[in-house]
Amino acid sequence: MTTQEESSRPRWLRRWIWGIALVSACCVGAAGVLVQLLMDQSDDDDTDVVTGSGCGNNVPVDPDADLPPVAALSDVQVHNAAVIIAVGQEMEMPVKGWVVAIATAMQETNLRNLANPAYPASLQLPNDGEGYDHDSVGLFQQRPASGWGAVEELMDPATAAQKFYEKLQTVDGWEDMSLTVAAQRVQVSAYPFAYQKHEPKATEIVNTLTGGGSRVPAVNVELGDCAPPGELSAAGWIVPVEGPIWSGFRTAARPNHQGVDIGAPKGTPVVAASSGTVITSECNAFAPDGSPYSCDIDGSPAIAGCGWYVNILHADDRLTRYCHFESRPLVKEGDVVQAGQVIGHVGSSGRSSGPHLHYEVHLNGDRSAAGAVDPVAFMNNVGAALG
Ligand SMILES: [Zn+2]
Repeated sequence: MTTQEESSRPRWLRRWIWGIALVSACCVGAAGVLVQLLMDQSDDDDTDVVTGSGCGNNVPVDPDADLPPVAALSDVQVHNAAVIIAVGQEMEMPVKGWVVAIATAMQETNLRNLANPAYPASLQLPNDGEGYDHDSVGLFQQRPASGWGAVEELMDPATAAQKFYEKLQTVDGWEDMSLTVAAQRVQVSAYPFAYQKHEPKATEIVNTLTGGGSRVPAVNVELGDCAPPGELSAAGWIVPVEGPIWSGFRTAARPNHQGVDIGAPKGTPVVAASSGTVITSECNAFAPDGSPYSCDIDGSPAIAGCGWYVNILHADDRLTRYCHFESRPLVKEGDVVQAGQVIGHVGSSGRSSGPHLHYEVHLNGDRSAAGAVDPVAFMNNVGAALG
């Protein structure tokens, strides 16, 4: 099923087809399911996600050293990113700050130290090209006229990064904010939501230059220790619910299982795995005869559908899905949620034989089975290991 096919059909029919898709996506097979569920540990890791391991080391990044390549970035861009990290390390900024700073520079200048003809002096200083954005200069497009500093300072990437971090430190509670809100508080940009889309690439850059540094807790200054369950990673992700993985992604026994089943007691809070926008929040359950079934009561393997469920769209068109809530989700379509925000409670609505969270991760905004990737590999990569 493709989005295109979906959109060409009437809404009631799309919903019905969507319901069938969820039947195949969801959680518990027909007979002997609980036994299978308990035995069905994931051991396959086929995935389209760039994976890595490790959570960084504490060797200071040297921007002038031979740096590893980062896909789609020039040496100049990688060098500037390394400068941002090195300054963050020197200032003992939490790792999340490095990610915020790199994402900000990606949005402002695509990681280039830009001179501005409005400040002729900037053209005489080392630069990576010219930009014409009002009266701002340098890697972060800071404005001399607004008190950010002298042109000579702002055209020096290390000093510009230092000034960015100093301003970030004055923002109360920035560590708990989504990347885009934290960046906006510093930059006061006309496009406040533009920063978030760079979070995945910024974390990839930090990981490449530090050996996996964005997988440490967001508030950590030092690298090395991966974020434990329940803590937000510097990459901006957190496990939706803590518990054992009962059933894995597309296992031999359940090749159409497009997510993982995480066991947890009924009523356990489920949190948004990363910041984003809620695009679905509804009941999806059908009786064997095809008629709608209540999500406010426990389902069973005979029932079809995800039960009470939520889809959240994140930066870079990543999508997460949470199924079988106990009751109506706490969020509704259109809500902007933060990583770690409670969105509902573990239950057993829809096709389910016992309380658990069925959790899916999709790429490219593709909510169909074709867009699903292994949540275990994906969450490992973003510093929020499941299980
Ligand atoms: Zn499942």
